[in-house]
Amino acid sequence: MKIDVLTLFPKMFNALSYSITGRALEKGLLSLTVTDIRQFSKNKHKKCDDYPYGGGSGMVMSVQPLYDVAKFIDAGHKAHRIYLSPKGKRLDQQTVIRLSEMPRLMLICGRYEGVDQRAIDLLADEEISIGDYVLTGGELPAMVLIDSVSRHIPNV
Ligand code: SAM
Repeated sequence: MKIDVLTLFPKMFNALSYSITGRALEKGLLSLTVTDIRQFSKNKHKKCDDYPYGGGSGMVMSVQPLYDVAKFIDAGHKAHRIYLSPKGKRLDQQTVIRLSEMPRLMLICGRYEGVDQRAIDLLADEEISIGDYVLTGGELPAMVLIDSVSRHIPNV
């Protein structure tokens, strides 16, 4: 299985190099590519946040870098794209098994007050929450999803 992660904090995913996920990566049963969204920002200061298009408080992740990174990594939209969101469908074992049967996933990790709704509408096939609480970012939820899904990859 191949998993792409889009994040502003790529180093957090080093945590997956331990134990079962680590061995799955070493054996090539799981392929993980973590991409720093900031590299794709066209802003001269590499900013990735903006005011919400429809108004509201706080800042959200802007459309441009997210759209460009998704286009670069998955031009043909082959991956099943998941936005980790507290408003998404709750991750349960049935969902984990369903996702483990997909050949390729792309996980979009939000930060700030979330992701501009236009980016979600353009990019995400599905929104998944890991529980009814709000975390500061989508990285830990993405790692929970990767850990739970990778246990169902044959030979892991
Ligand atoms: N007000 C925002 C909302 O309701 O979506 C909260 C944004 S939260 C501070 C920042 C990011 O953390 C979100 O964009 C999402 O990617 C991630 N996140 C927070 N809690 C989560 C949860 N329970 N499940 C999945 N992702 C979560």
